[in-house]
Amino acid sequence: MELWTPDSWRGKPILQQPNYTDATLLSKVEQQLSQLPPLVFAGEVRALRNQLAEATEGRAFLLQGGDCAESFAEFHADNIRDTFKVLLQMAVVLTFAGSCPIVKVGRMAGQFAKPRSADTEVVDGKELPSYRGDIVNDINFNADARVPDPQRLLQAYNQAAATQNLLRAFAQGGFADLGQVHAWNLGFVDKSPLGEKYRDLADQIDQALAFMKACGISGNNTPQIHETSLYTSHEALLLNFEQALTRRDSLTERWYDCSAHMLWIGDRTRQLDGAHIEFMRGIHNPIGVKVGPSMAADELLKLIEILNPNNEPGRLNLISRMGAEQVGDKLSPLVRAVKDAGLKVLWSCDPMHGNTIKTSNGYKTRAVDQVLSEMKGFFQVHQAEGTIAGGVHFEMTGQNVTECIGGAYQITEANLADRYNTYCDPRLNADQALELAFLIADTLKH
Ligand code: PEP
Ligand code: MN
Repeated sequence: MELWTPDSWRGKPILQQPNYTDATLLSKVEQQLSQLPPLVFAGEVRALRNQLAEATEGRAFLLQGGDCAESFAEFHADNIRDTFKVLLQMAVVLTFAGSCPIVKVGRMAGQFAKPRSADTEVVDGKELPSYRGDIVNDINFNADARVPDPQRLLQAYNQAAATQNLLRAFAQGGFADLGQVHAWNLGFVDKSPLGEKYRDLADQIDQALAFMKACGISGNNTPQIHETSLYTSHEALLLNFEQALTRRDSLTERWYDCSAHMLWIGDRTRQLDGAHIEFMRGIHNPIGVKVGPSMAADELLKLIEILNPNNEPGRLNLISRMGAEQVGDKLSPLVRAVKDAGLKVLWSCDPMHGNTIKTSNGYKTRAVDQVLSEMKGFFQVHQAEGTIAGGVHFEMTGQNVTECIGGAYQITEANLADRYNTYCDPRLNADQALELAFLIADTLKH
C-alpha cells in the first residue's frame, strides 16, 4: 500500500465534487480551516469506537439519525433541541423496551454536503448546476446561487461548532437526565397514539428511577442517569473540508478527522481506487460505508481489507441500504461472505435510501411501511445467517413535517405539500420515528 497522507486523496479519481472556479480562494479557505480548533477530540472518537465494537459483538445497538442535509436557513436552537429530543426518546424506547444499551450518533453538526444523481438540474427548460448542500452552493434556482462558493466552508464550520456546543450542553447539562423523560415528548407527538405509548413507558421509567433512588442510586452518584453522550457524524463527501479538519493526535500520533466523531462514505463515492476510500483509510475514526444493491461480495471484501486491514471491531460500519424489495436477495450473500471471511464489521440498516419514490404530484417521498419492511428484511437476513443486526440509520427530524407517507397520522400523498421542508431527502417526523423505535425494540427483545 502506498504511503497515506491527509492529502494523498488528491491524486485519485474523485466523484461528486463541485466545480470551484476560484482556486486561490478555495486554498485560502482551506488554510484558514486548518488553523481552526477541531470540532471533536480524539479521546471521544476512541470512546465511540469502543462502543461500536460492543455493538459489533451484539452487546449494544447503534442508533444513527438526523437530517438528510442540514441547512444554513434552518439553523436554530429549537431544531437542534427537537431532533435531540427524538433521538433521546428513541434511545430510551430501545434501551428500556429492548433491554439494550444504545449508542447515539446524530447526522448533525456537519451533515451538509450532498451527492446528487445528476450534475445539473433542468427547470422549465433552464439548466443549472445541481444544489450540492449548503456547504457548497445555494438551493435557490438561479445561476448566481448555484455557483460553488468556498466561503461556505467557513460558515459550515461555524454552524457545526455551534451545533456541537449545544449538543454537548444538552447531553451533559441535565436536559438528557432520565428524570426528564416525560419532557422529551414533543407537543404534536403527545397527542398521537405513539405519544400515549411513550407516556406509558416514561411512567415505568419514573417508577424504576424512584425505586433506584430509594435504594441509594440516583443522578447524584450515577452519571449515567443524569447525562448521556451524543456523537456526531456526516458523509465525508467534500474532502477539502475533511482534510482541513484532520489533525494528528498528540497522545497516539495517529490522524483523526476532527470534523465529527464518525464519518461515512456514500454509496456513490465508494470506488476502491477513488479519492474517498483513499482519504478514509488513513484516519482513525470509526467509519461507515453505505452498501447499496450494486455492491458485489468480492468488491466488499476488498473494501474491508483496505479500510480495516487489522480487522478491528468498532472501526467499520457497513450501512446496508438495499430497498425493501431487494434486501433479502442482495444483503444475504454479502453478510455470508463477510462472515465466512471472519471479518469484524458492524452491520446497520439504512431503510431510507433504497425506498425513495416520486409521487404523481412531484414530491420525493418514502412510505413508512416500506421503511419498516426493509428493516424487517434486514433483521431476518441476520437471523438466518446467525450474524448480528447491530444498528439503524434514519433520516428524521423533531419537526412536525409531512415528508414521508404513513405513520400514526396517516400522512398521504395529498398531505405532503403541507409541511415539506427538507433540503434534500424526505425525513421521518417524530411520531413516525418513534413508531419505528417501538417496533425495533420488540425485535431486539426477541
Ligand atoms: C445519504 O445518506 O443522505 C445518502 C446520500 O445516502 P446514500 O449514499 O446511501 O445514497
Ligand atoms: Mn439522504
